[in-house]
Amino acid sequence: MVTINAALARKLYGATDPIGRRLSVCTDPAAGKPHWVTIVGVTGDIRADGLGEPPQDAVHFTLGSKDEMWVQVTPSAHHKCARCWHLREDVGSHAKHPELCGRCVSNVDGDGEPRQFA
Ligand SMILES: [Zn+2]
Repeated sequence: MVTINAALARKLYGATDPIGRRLSVCTDPAAGKPHWVTIVGVTGDIRADGLGEPPQDAVHFTLGSKDEMWVQVTPSAHHKCARCWHLREDVGSHAKHPELCGRCVSNVDGDGEPRQFA
């Protein structure tokens, strides 16, 4: 569960209530693995870069009983794979499957990735 600031709420959802919506947060950009969190609140904006600067988009995580952090949000430069929805650098680089990432191309049209479980 996370809270987001008003700037991010306006950007992502406009006038729609963001409470209860899910947000994909990439915790490992190299692997492109999304981590889904639920928005439980909206806070005001903080102008951390100065009063003359616009507020930055931010997500607030509660890590433990007293630990918490704010994370500034930037959109990924990568495209979303049509099959797994991961934002991967190699989406669009496979001529036969331009909408898929390399991992999905391997699973759909190759030997597939090694499976540890059934
Ligand atoms: Zn994929």
